Amino acid sequence: MNIIQNYLNIKNEIQVLDRDVRLVVVSKGQDINKIQLIINQGHLDFGENKVQEATLKWTEILKINKNINLHLIGNLQSNKAKDAFKIFNFIHSLDSEKLAKIFSNLEIIQKKKINYFIQVNIGQELQKGGIAIHLAGEFINYCKNDLKLNILGLMCIPPADQISEFFFLKLRELNSINQLKYLSMGMSGDFKIAIKSGSNYVRIGSSIFN
Ligand SMILES: *Cc1c(COP(=O)(O)O)cnc(C)c1O
Repeated sequence: MNIIQNYLNIKNEIQVLDRDVRLVVVSKGQDINKIQLIINQGHLDFGENKVQEATLKWTEILKINKNINLHLIGNLQSNKAKDAFKIFNFIHSLDSEKLAKIFSNLEIIQKKKINYFIQVNIGQELQKGGIAIHLAGEFINYCKNDLKLNILGLMCIPPADQISEFFFLKLRELNSINQLKYLSMGMSGDFKIAIKSGSNYVRIGSSIFN
């Protein structure tokens, strides 16, 4: 097990496919010593799925490493949005009007803008987060035009037991219909397919840390 070598391998595999794809190293559940190895490589994008864990782990690190971007990749409850806004500069899981409104208010009050991906429940799974496909267009317009949020594009997590490519292509189409620029899709098991399907942000954890 060599975290640095795993990281360099993944970076290389991404570069071969598309050098503009941004790697979000998913550090959820990992302790600081391991994460520090990757920070030391100069890496600047890290993903966490829990606000409290991220705050505990990252507050001090971010004071020293001001260029690091933290990406929230997990479901967000609206009572955690304010804490999330303090520490994350990318939210990949925006999926409700309620959350969007809270972030919009925080942006106005604190005079600070962050970046968002709208999560789409692309496999129409009951237990999964994300906005329903048929509501996505209206929600995108609301976030962009009414709330003036900086919506980069759409994000999805395909159903675990099915072929990811079908869902990636579906999300890409939805992104393009709505004139959005970027896609957040692809994890350890399917990032190559995601990049071939047009992803711009891949979120990779286990194949680096395990
Ligand atoms: C955990 C997680 C990842 C990383 O998955 P790996 O399979 O460990 O690479 C990516 N995206 C989301 C939303 C996650 O929860």
